[in-house]
Amino acid sequence: MVAFLLVTALLAAATAVFAYRRADQRPAQIAVRVQATGLDRWVRIDDGEPVAAALLAAGALGHDGRLLSAKDHVVLDPRVDPAVLTVDGKRVDPASVPVARDVVAIVDGKDRVEPTRTVREAVEPAAMDDVLVHVTEKGVPGTVERVLGATSGEVVSSRVIKAPIAPKRTDRKVVALTFDDGPSALWTAKVLAVLKAKGVHATFCEIGTQVADQPQLSKAIVDQGHQLCNHTLHHDEGLKGAAQAKLDEEIGGGAKAFTDHGLPAPSYYRPPGGFLDDAIKATVRGQHEQTLYWKVDTEDWRKGANTLTILRHVLDQVEPGAIILMHDGGGAERQPTIDALGLAIDHLKAEGYEFTFPVIAHS
Ligand SMILES: [Zn+2]
Repeated sequence: MVAFLLVTALLAAATAVFAYRRADQRPAQIAVRVQATGLDRWVRIDDGEPVAAALLAAGALGHDGRLLSAKDHVVLDPRVDPAVLTVDGKRVDPASVPVARDVVAIVDGKDRVEPTRTVREAVEPAAMDDVLVHVTEKGVPGTVERVLGATSGEVVSSRVIKAPIAPKRTDRKVVALTFDDGPSALWTAKVLAVLKAKGVHATFCEIGTQVADQPQLSKAIVDQGHQLCNHTLHHDEGLKGAAQAKLDEEIGGGAKAFTDHGLPAPSYYRPPGGFLDDAIKATVRGQHEQTLYWKVDTEDWRKGANTLTILRHVLDQVEPGAIILMHDGGGAERQPTIDALGLAIDHLKAEGYEFTFPVIAHS
């Protein structure tokens, strides 16, 4: 026995009522009392008709309770609490047949709102600038608390618990030394020796083919606490406007040279010659590398550069957060760079500078 009433079942029963009324012989009528929300009245139906006929006569079909979504009250379930039909207090089927003076009652189901659940989610900070000229402090994720409809997933409310902190150019008195075009059998070890003697760490932007030739130099760099940077596979200065396949070969190949030799994947990309376009930047981002430009070009690559010119470029242009470009490879003569390096470090330290990597933690 169905112990509850669905509106659809009621309508099906009503169809049976009409079929019954088309019969030729009309039996005697009976009076039954119908009670529903806002309604309590006597109606007359033919003897033998189902209770549905009494409800139709009274205009009381009842309604089922619905499950509604937490925010927009979208109907998730039309019959979560079905209407209940009784005759003299006992649950009956809409097709059951009342007798005279029965009390037919229909109690509406109640609408319900779905339960909610509360979740906490991380909110990513804004992205870092595509191309870094200054030492940049990483962003810090925030936290948001959301109340969600348990069934619908609707966001009922959200509240920021902790706002994310955007990345920013540091205002700390730091600089980041970067060395391009190594590793070099002639010069890299000498640069490392100066850095070690001064207790300073730097970033090395290396050419893939040279890493493949002398991976032990790159390993020494990492072992001494410095960081690696991708400077393409062949120091290709023609990547601006190049086809994607070429970018993958040079930028992807540069990174692969490190990992193929058991070295960590580089965190940075330095464009040879400084040539950049959107496709290059997107390729670099796709490799989870950060493109590095520079604030101070020591011009140690220029013909005629000497210790004094290199030092002057550093000291004239330095400012908090400056990324400084030097070379430990790519030229016949790097001794001026090495001589200037020790002096520059001493001067900068005397001015209160510390030495960091291009991307640092939020301070
Ligand atoms: Zn270079």
